[in-house]
Amino acid sequence: MNIPKKIIVHHSGDSSPIDQLSKINRYHEQRGFDRSELGFFVGYHYLINKLGIVTRTKYDHEIGCHDAGENINSLGVCLEGDFSLELPTEEQEKALGGLLCDLCRKYRLTALDIEPHRIRDDTECYGTLLSDDWASKIYLKFELDYLRKFLTWCQINLQHFLK
Ligand SMILES: [Zn+2]
Repeated sequence: MNIPKKIIVHHSGDSSPIDQLSKINRYHEQRGFDRSELGFFVGYHYLINKLGIVTRTKYDHEIGCHDAGENINSLGVCLEGDFSLELPTEEQEKALGGLLCDLCRKYRLTALDIEPHRIRDDTECYGTLLSDDWASKIYLKFELDYLRKFLTWCQINLQHFLK
């Protein structure tokens, strides 16, 4: 049973523009990764393509295969692209922000529980162009936008009530 205590963000390390799901699935099958309950061999829980489409490849309760030593009690989120060579698309950032907000609320996690693969591992993943706190900042930006909208909504309701 995987109880998410942190979210580990990856890049696929592949800058090809095509949808990489089947490629990654094949590669991870060849590496002998287990088939998930959703029918994928992909080691991550979520994959975000360049159009911002999120594919769930494992249920959150399944133990992933994406970070040596940190697969237990974590979730793996991978963005397609090589962020040592290129930046994520705006659509990918939006999709990541929304997904991180959902996951952090669901599992009561904070920005401090979100990290790139390279923390405690010998890899560049999620790419040298992005800082260690890039994903945490994307999450905070989306959470703040949500809170601002919520506060505006409260204000409108209160003004109506106090008239
Ligand atoms: Zn990685």
